[in-house]
Amino acid sequence: MHTTVFERSAPEPSAIDAALAPSRPAVFWTEDAPGHRFDILERDRSADLVVVGGGYAGLWTAIRAKERDPGMSVILVEAKTIGWAASGRNGGFVEASLTHGEANGERRWPEELARLDELGHQNLDAIEKAVADYRMAADFERTGTLSVAIEPHQLEWLDGPSTPDDVLLDESEVRAEVNSPTYLRGRWDKRGTALVHPGKFAAELARVATELGVEIYERSPVRSLDDEGTGVVVRTQRGVVRASRVALATNAFPSLLARNRLMTVPVYDYVLMTEPLSDAQLDSIGWRHRQGLADLANQFPYYRLSSDNRILFGGYDAIYHYGGRIRTEYEERPASFRTLASHFLTTFPQLEGLTFTHRWAGVIDTSTRFCAYFGTARKGRVAYAAGFTGLGVAATRFAAEVMLDKLAGLTTELTELRMVRERPLPFPPEPAASAGINLTRVSLDRADHNEGKRNVLLKTLDALGLGFDS
Ligand SMILES: Cc1cc2nc3c(=O)[nH]c(=O)nc-3n(C[C@H](O)[C@H](O)[C@H](O)COP(=O)(O)OP(=O)(O)OC[C@H]3O[C@@H](n4cnc5c(N)ncnc54)[C@H](O)[C@@H]3O)c2cc1C
Repeated sequence: MHTTVFERSAPEPSAIDAALAPSRPAVFWTEDAPGHRFDILERDRSADLVVVGGGYAGLWTAIRAKERDPGMSVILVEAKTIGWAASGRNGGFVEASLTHGEANGERRWPEELARLDELGHQNLDAIEKAVADYRMAADFERTGTLSVAIEPHQLEWLDGPSTPDDVLLDESEVRAEVNSPTYLRGRWDKRGTALVHPGKFAAELARVATELGVEIYERSPVRSLDDEGTGVVVRTQRGVVRASRVALATNAFPSLLARNRLMTVPVYDYVLMTEPLSDAQLDSIGWRHRQGLADLANQFPYYRLSSDNRILFGGYDAIYHYGGRIRTEYEERPASFRTLASHFLTTFPQLEGLTFTHRWAGVIDTSTRFCAYFGTARKGRVAYAAGFTGLGVAATRFAAEVMLDKLAGLTTELTELRMVRERPLPFPPEPAASAGINLTRVSLDRADHNEGKRNVLLKTLDALGLGFDS
């Protein structure tokens, strides 16, 4: 077994303690976003479309429904508050990829990948346009991403020609962009990613939806969907909506459709946020182009600047709990926060002394194909999309289009894509699920410690088109 740079250049434990000491368990993004609150659904209502879930997927579905047909009545019901879950807790990387990266798309839908890539870029452009048209104050910056090789065996993974929008950087060039002693090579994809303030983005999408005439209700968990005549009765804790059509945008939470319960597993992802950097601290790392950053390992941290020059540093660990449970107490995981703080100080040793102010976790809806799946139930009256596997900030808008096409009974380019038509394999029930997921995690960690070489289990899963990732 080899060591990784994070072990070879690990900081002193006392430096990790000092960096983490001031941190509070709180989500920076939602604390830093305006907090408009909506009523509880307490009356009996009817609507052309009910959207369940107030994250990006639900909000885009409601907005696009009203943009397509302003006369349609749309009600969105959210179990807690708008954007409280993944949509308010994520890294804010708005990525064009609809397939969780090119390699995953190439393996599954090679004949379709070029078109999926174009559709993904169009989707990102449409998000940028909506942000501008509706004047969303969401700190949207089209900075691109810098992928960095931090181990010698990763160097060749960045091979390929440079283009004006996709630039290969050697060691000195990549360190001139962002000054980390761990960087050996980099590739800057300038157009494929934007960064956004996730909390403000959710709040602004809710504002836009409301202005378009969508009725939003919070603290109104949907308990059941029952067929009635040609429609569906949506029952919340205290109210009822009779709907012609329903879109389910409930992400990692238990699906209201039994058939989808094993299609995703909830996986916890952990995040740290620093205090704002001083000008001198910022000068010491460069980062003038403010790209989103990630390295190439299987288990990798992702990091970025906020508009007030804090650094968000998240990822690496992906933790699954037996039975697919989602519990607030799982958000506190000292070992994961220590790992992140340690990797942060290895990446930027010149920032020793900078402290973290916030630590949090969020749940990712992992699917066996690493990207969303789509479908309908109840004779086409209910549509669903889930399984974004940690890459849904942009892809949820695409999913909204697919769900609306399907609910309208339309056959469109999107509904005819193989990626959209195919249903992934489910996860096995417990105890096989946790045994398989934990073995896969150990194998991925081993591969990172073994020059990226994948063991028999990973090769078998690759061959079967199955996997586990954050
Ligand atoms: C820590 C973290 C970092 C991430 N970083 C990135 C990133 O940088 N880039 C990226 O592309 N993706 C990232 N992701 C993934 C991304 O955040 C999600 O894919 C995306 O937000 C999914 O949006 P959503 O609307 O489907 O889900 P959510 O935001 O989870 O919303 C689902 C909503 O449905 C509600 N709900 C569930 N069941 C019911 C019910 N029965 N009744 C009513 N409401 C219900 C929930 O309360 C919730 O608000 C990250 C995720 C996490 C957790």
